[in-house]
Amino acid sequence: MSRTGHRGYRRNRARALRNSDVCHLCGGWIDPDLKYPDPMSASADHVQPVSRGGSNTGELRAAHLRCNIRRGNRNGLPGSETPVRHGRAW
Ligand SMILES: [Zn+2]
Repeated sequence: MSRTGHRGYRRNRARALRNSDVCHLCGGWIDPDLKYPDPMSASADHVQPVSRGGSNTGELRAAHLRCNIRRGNRNGLPGSETPVRHGRAW
């Protein structure tokens, strides 16, 4: 098995998305027909961030683009989702 760095990434990503059509962050089904930048489209999420020593060809899991963004950036995309109101004063 030879590791070919970035070249392997696309294939690995495609395989990750093909093997799983369930978002590993919210558990919801991912519609494979949706494409970026649809918030519900599939995106590959690194289980182990590359910045923390994870391999770029390492394990990837499928996640909604929305969930992936929400996890990485709490603000998300402006206007992409309606704020959830909790009937609870903090
Ligand atoms: Zn999700």
